[in-house]
Amino acid sequence: MRKIEHIGIAVKDLEVSNELFEKLFGAPHYKIESVESEGVKTSFFQVGPNKIELLEATKPDSPIAKFIEKKGEGIHHIAFDVEDIESEIKRLQAEGFIVLNETPKSGADNKLVAFLHPKSTNGVLIELCQERKA
Ligand code: ZN
Repeated sequence: MRKIEHIGIAVKDLEVSNELFEKLFGAPHYKIESVESEGVKTSFFQVGPNKIELLEATKPDSPIAKFIEKKGEGIHHIAFDVEDIESEIKRLQAEGFIVLNETPKSGADNKLVAFLHPKSTNGVLIELCQERKA
């Protein structure tokens, strides 16, 4: 893994939270993107070299809706930038981590992504993120 790509925060109302985080960071979000397959609407903020992703559920069975139901709003996942997601998945599986997406899927922001089960990572949902090559 190379660096933290972004931190994902689950929110109930993206519009309300966009205003809140705009005040916090002193800069507005630079894009909004829906990932229909995941039932989420996301917005992205750039804070210096770092990226923050806000996630709102777009349907009741979305993983974000379930997360908020269980734990409330808050940090949902930490995403790490990887060079080659397929080989990273194989490496982590060999190390005993539970990979939720053996085949990487399309994430927001033109990424290929895969998640690790928090059971195998001390309760932290980890996202692997690879820039999609054009
Ligand atoms: Zn993410």
